[in-house]
Amino acid sequence: MIIGIIGGGASGMAAAIAASQNMNNEVIIFERQSRVGKKLLASGNGRCNLSNMLALNGGYHGEDLEFPLFALRAMSPEKTLNWFRALGLYTVCEPSGRVYPYSDQANSVVDVLRFALQKPNITLCNGYDVQKIVKSENGFIVDNGEAPVFCNRVVVACGGLAGTKLGGSMAGYKLLGRLGHKSTRLRPALVQLKTAWKGVSALKGVRCNCAVEILKDEAIFSQSVGEIQFTDYGLSGPVIFEVSRDVCYGPGNWRAKLDFLPEMSAQMLLEELLRRKETELPAEELLTGILHNRLGRVLTKAAGIRSDSPIRELSTEALEAVCSVVKNFEIPLDEPMGMDCAQVTAGGVYTRDFNPETMESRLVPGLFACGEVLDVDGDCGGYNLQWAWSSGCLAGSSAGKENL
Ligand SMILES: Cc1cc2nc3c(=O)[nH]c(=O)nc-3n(C[C@H](O)[C@H](O)[C@H](O)COP(=O)(O)OP(=O)(O)OC[C@H]3O[C@@H](n4cnc5c(N)ncnc54)[C@H](O)[C@@H]3O)c2cc1C
Repeated sequence: MIIGIIGGGASGMAAAIAASQNMNNEVIIFERQSRVGKKLLASGNGRCNLSNMLALNGGYHGEDLEFPLFALRAMSPEKTLNWFRALGLYTVCEPSGRVYPYSDQANSVVDVLRFALQKPNITLCNGYDVQKIVKSENGFIVDNGEAPVFCNRVVVACGGLAGTKLGGSMAGYKLLGRLGHKSTRLRPALVQLKTAWKGVSALKGVRCNCAVEILKDEAIFSQSVGEIQFTDYGLSGPVIFEVSRDVCYGPGNWRAKLDFLPEMSAQMLLEELLRRKETELPAEELLTGILHNRLGRVLTKAAGIRSDSPIRELSTEALEAVCSVVKNFEIPLDEPMGMDCAQVTAGGVYTRDFNPETMESRLVPGLFACGEVLDVDGDCGGYNLQWAWSSGCLAGSSAGKENL
């Protein structure tokens, strides 16, 4: 059989390797970019957080939370690491469960996958931008508008819309849409948040540990603890990615509430600040030694204290106001950054129209899909690539079976 894989990203390469196990199959990867795995190279800040050992405990989103489970169990994180080991990749697992290549370089992951694709029954068609897939007798015609190719079975592994500069596009949704598959609303996820608060630019580049609550009106919408990073437009960093999903959709008073000292109570902080009244320093040094200097100054000012007031002259009420700002700093939120900045697409092609045990379409026999194009997205920390490997291997091995 000829198995056409549309897209040479994470899930497409996994699908090709799985489908090629049966040497009677001829596997063709159609990749519109000049080489496979471009997004993978940029993943995890160039380190590629390729899995998370906790991926079977949850961390996935979409209309049907059960849908990804079969694929994730069939190719669990443990099995994925063994699979990569067999391809020649050594990995390390951090205490958080995040898995990285031992080399700490994303290109190691891409390289072992590229080497695994060098098989007599796999053909790489780089620079082939699939425009349509047409159902034909016994299979499909995959067409870039110039050189149509017949395939008995097709796996759509085109990824999602997120990371547009790295190849994210609407292509997969459109190709599947022409074959009758509808998509949910698409939103950026794992993305930075924007604020109209002018003071943020003074904090550009500041990183700190923080407890973050996203508030919609008076309700807590999402929350987490970890590192945040201020940018000139708003908030970034792993913990912001975690809480960013679905933020600012729909009307409401959206804010981020930040506790800059999650491990210290307001009372403990007040006692420390009261001790500082014995110094001759100005108020701009009040939080020196506790927080990043620039952050300390911005927060002291936000508590209504002049930077040149001597600390010894500050009243207990003024110090309580500083503690309150440090523990409950609220920043108004605009809409999140767009799809070009997002790491993953929330939403995608409806999974109810695919069989979770094979990834085959329920509408078009012989058609398969995997990866981000489907309505499955994961938390920050290796969950999305784990879904790409698990769903890709399942789609490829199913597509490669003579009798399903
Ligand atoms: C900056 C960034 C960092 C990330 N870091 C991590 C991380 O560390 N850990 C993690 O788990 N996830 C991470 N992700 C998310 C993860 O990379 C994706 O979820 C994953 O790559 C999706 O795999 P996929 O195979 O579905 O799609 P992709 O990997 O996007 O691959 C799709 C491929 O299909 C090709 N294609 C599309 N349309 C066509 C067409 N019409 N014809 C031919 N080819 C086509 C594209 O060029 C692309 O190569 C990151 C994402 C970004 C943007």
